[in-house]
Amino acid sequence: MKNNQVSFWARNIQYRTESHNGTEYVVPVSEQTYLYNPLENEYELLSDALNLGRYLTENDTGQKENVLDFVRKYGLLGIMTDITDSDLDSNEQVIIHENIFMESGIVSTSNFTKQFFPFNEVDILRPLEFKLGFKRRGTIYNKMFLNGWQYSEPLEWMIKYFKYLYSFMTAEKKELENFNKPQLTYKIDIQREINLVCEYVSLKAIIDFAFAKAVTDERKPLRYCKHCDKIFYAGDVRSEFCSPRCRNQFNVYKSRAKH
Ligand SMILES: [Zn+2]
Repeated sequence: MKNNQVSFWARNIQYRTESHNGTEYVVPVSEQTYLYNPLENEYELLSDALNLGRYLTENDTGQKENVLDFVRKYGLLGIMTDITDSDLDSNEQVIIHENIFMESGIVSTSNFTKQFFPFNEVDILRPLEFKLGFKRRGTIYNKMFLNGWQYSEPLEWMIKYFKYLYSFMTAEKKELENFNKPQLTYKIDIQREINLVCEYVSLKAIIDFAFAKAVTDERKPLRYCKHCDKIFYAGDVRSEFCSPRCRNQFNVYKSRAKH
């Protein structure tokens, strides 16, 4: 038995914002989509998300541009699959789990998914003939990242999530218990041999789980850089700076101040 983590995510090379019925959406606009593995730089992803949450909490201007910068680097959050089940495209109705974006309960799949495909008439229940290349993943991911379908997310929801995540950086110990439950799913996969496969349902699930691991780590790896004050993940317990550059600059200023 091997353990496998299925975490591939899709990133379009260009995004913009566009309004539909009074809601501003973050929308993919390029013909090109890349698959990548966010777990390879899990803690850089986490610190980027936390720094973005902090920026959005402390600044009213430049919010959209900062969210777009993040999305161009990592793709959309995957809120649609995060708050439901990832086989939602094979059921007429879907269960919405408790979440920070909308009311939970059972709703019609087509009404629910319309919120994420505002610019195209998309029939989510229709089977697809071709696949994007998500290994061993549900068909829903191929549908989400088809260029022509333009899976999109409300900008306000994304801002809400990043602020929510950052709010737990300063939370009291007892409040941490209220943090999002990570949406981890697993299955026994028998394609070649018998394997246990863990599947991250969304980019958000990867960030949430990375945060939960970091915040429960007794070495307290989430820190503020002593030079630039950015949040960073300290791989080394002694680390006080987000980068060698910040460490060098701090030392230069310190030695200048002595003279
Ligand atoms: Zn720094």
